[in-house]
Amino acid sequence: MVLPSRRDLAVRALLARHPLTDDQPLAALLDLQGVRDAANDLHAAFDEVTAPGRPVLHTFAVKAGSLVPVLRLLDGFGIGCEVASPGELALARAAGLAADRIVLDSPAKTPAELAEALALGIALNADNPQELARLDALVGAGREPAGPVGLRVNPQLGGGTIDAMSTATATSKFGVALGDPGARDWVVRACTDRPWLTRLHCHVGSQGMALERMAAGVRATYELAEEINAAAGRHQIDTLDIGGGLPVNFGSDEVKPTFREYARLLRRTVPGLFDGRYGLVTEFGRSLLAKSGFILARVEYTKSAGGRPIAVTHAGAQVAVRTVFVPESWPIRVAAYHADGLPKQDGPQVRQDVAGPCCFAGDLVARDRPLPRLVPGDLVALLDTGAYYFSNPFGYNALPRPGVYGYSADGEGPAVLTTLRRPQTVAELVAEYGGDC
Ligand SMILES: *Cc1c(COP(=O)(O)O)cnc(C)c1O
Repeated sequence: MVLPSRRDLAVRALLARHPLTDDQPLAALLDLQGVRDAANDLHAAFDEVTAPGRPVLHTFAVKAGSLVPVLRLLDGFGIGCEVASPGELALARAAGLAADRIVLDSPAKTPAELAEALALGIALNADNPQELARLDALVGAGREPAGPVGLRVNPQLGGGTIDAMSTATATSKFGVALGDPGARDWVVRACTDRPWLTRLHCHVGSQGMALERMAAGVRATYELAEEINAAAGRHQIDTLDIGGGLPVNFGSDEVKPTFREYARLLRRTVPGLFDGRYGLVTEFGRSLLAKSGFILARVEYTKSAGGRPIAVTHAGAQVAVRTVFVPESWPIRVAAYHADGLPKQDGPQVRQDVAGPCCFAGDLVARDRPLPRLVPGDLVALLDTGAYYFSNPFGYNALPRPGVYGYSADGEGPAVLTTLRRPQTVAELVAEYGGDC
């Protein structure tokens, strides 16, 4: 007999505790043990390569899973927060994160955000010369930074397989483009002129980026730090923030690449970064959560058009925006369950479309996908959707945000569920859409 997987146990527990009803025909689930394992893997990978005693601050890119209980959980696993807006900072603070475990990045920080970060001691990475001038004004007015300040650079190494995720192209909007005429000298002088500028930051890209290119970005940033420190005649740049971006395998249950492979590649390609002279900050998002989450939705109708079977479900663009709009770059696996929560693996596979509830033709989460023939009442699970899916909803057709539940399943007895976000009520939805104006 095959033992039920943690995911299968979570499906059963959900149906027992929060059945998929007409009002709540979909829900999202997060495997809390999977998140802990990912956090432990990250710590272990960098512990193995860093010199003893060197500080490493791992932060979680809040945009990848912006739910307060998730941030609190990760903080408990020793992972801080990388925030990129006042809202994300508010989420991190609501989760109870200490200022020295938060890093602020954003290409559009307002004067108020800068002043607040300096006052609270939140580390921040300036994006461009104008932002640095604003910081100069604040520092000149006596607002000495209470936390570390860095400068984001773009080593312009080129993109990965997904343009929208590639932040180190020649014309990327992020950071100071190092290869542009005069830019490198400007950065060196900008740092040596400002003793409070002690960090460099780079984030080469997210999903679709080869590990070698990510490592090349870190290497370019390290070489710049060495150049600045030589020009300053002291160890002014003492920490590198190497961003996140470890890609996730959406094709199977296997975790690949791993944090360990990346950390070892970094040690091989940038050995000087690990000899004890530099502290490190990381900002992984997707790789910490993606494989631990899934969305479960009811099949409402099944039909056929032009010979193609179509299952109309309640999970579409409102929870899977990238997959729906850019399906070639963001394919996801779909698993089928019977209405009672047992896996549906029986019967011949039939190629079918899995559609969402939104009123536009492209609202499909899978096209022409071989699956057991779905019938109304069955459930579909959209796998590996723990990051950037249910936490980043798309407002369309006034569809409410689904509930999100954490689960713990040890294989003995039913899975235990914890609410991470209540399902949005219709009254809350009406208020969000101006009903209170
Ligand atoms: C989005 C982002 C990250 C996280 O990227 P992942 O691909 O989710 O790991 C890290 N740093 C910055 C600056 C980002 O914009």
